[in-house]
Amino acid sequence: PRVSPLLTARALHARYDGFTALDGVDLDVTPGQVTAIVGPNGAGKSTLFHCLAGTHRPARGRVLLGGRDITRLPAHTRTRLGIARTFQQLAVFPTLTVAENVRVGAEQGRVTDPAAVERALSLLGLDGPVRALPAAGLPTGTLRRVELARALAGAPRVLLLDEPAAGLDTTEVAALTRVLKALAADGTALLVVEHDLDLVADLADVVHVMTAGRVVASGPPARVLDSLGAREGHS
Ligand code: ADP
Ligand code: MG
Repeated sequence: PRVSPLLTARALHARYDGFTALDGVDLDVTPGQVTAIVGPNGAGKSTLFHCLAGTHRPARGRVLLGGRDITRLPAHTRTRLGIARTFQQLAVFPTLTVAENVRVGAEQGRVTDPAAVERALSLLGLDGPVRALPAAGLPTGTLRRVELARALAGAPRVLLLDEPAAGLDTTEVAALTRVLKALAADGTALLVVEHDLDLVADLADVVHVMTAGRVVASGPPARVLDSLGAREGHS
């Protein structure tokens, strides 16, 4: 049987002053699947994330979580309901340790469970001595793992990842891929904005191509990415 979408955008429009950043986006994010968004810089991908997470208020349209209209709920309430995210610009607390950063995620999340913190640290390979280090000064790859662990520590139902592979080397991308596939296999709904099209091809069940605030193509990665034509150059 077909699994129902958990998070849905309906006819989302977003503006910054006079500028239209989202021009009627419809999107479903489904449990157990990786949904990917690709598209050039300025397409509106991050703005879509902000509208889904509650950090930008859409001009029109609706956001639904499990059929409930959450369009007007603030970001922290959405986090409690199980929508977790990472940021394109890393957003860890520099003076807190790795473990403390991850604990913040549990406190803000859907459940506050010390065991979930330990699971998240271990899943991201952060349960060794690095857990006690301050986040400031850690390499980008480690900080991306801290961010992901923080998002996971609250046991989210939906995970929104904005360019999770940015700044990672190939070994780190392979490790990230394994973690994200495991999360999807566990039933988490993943929405990933990513420039690395090889990663998208490997990871995604469905790909949406955004351009100028609209979704212009959708489908399985083999079909959609091939029709993009230029796999290189599209970054
Ligand atoms: P993407 O993530 O696909 O690169 P964004 O959602 O960040 O795209 O941006 C979409 C468009 O909205 C771009 O033209 C960008 O310049 C503009 N934009 C994004 N954030 C702001 C902002 N805070 N104020 C004004 N314009 C913005
Ligand atoms: Mg962006």
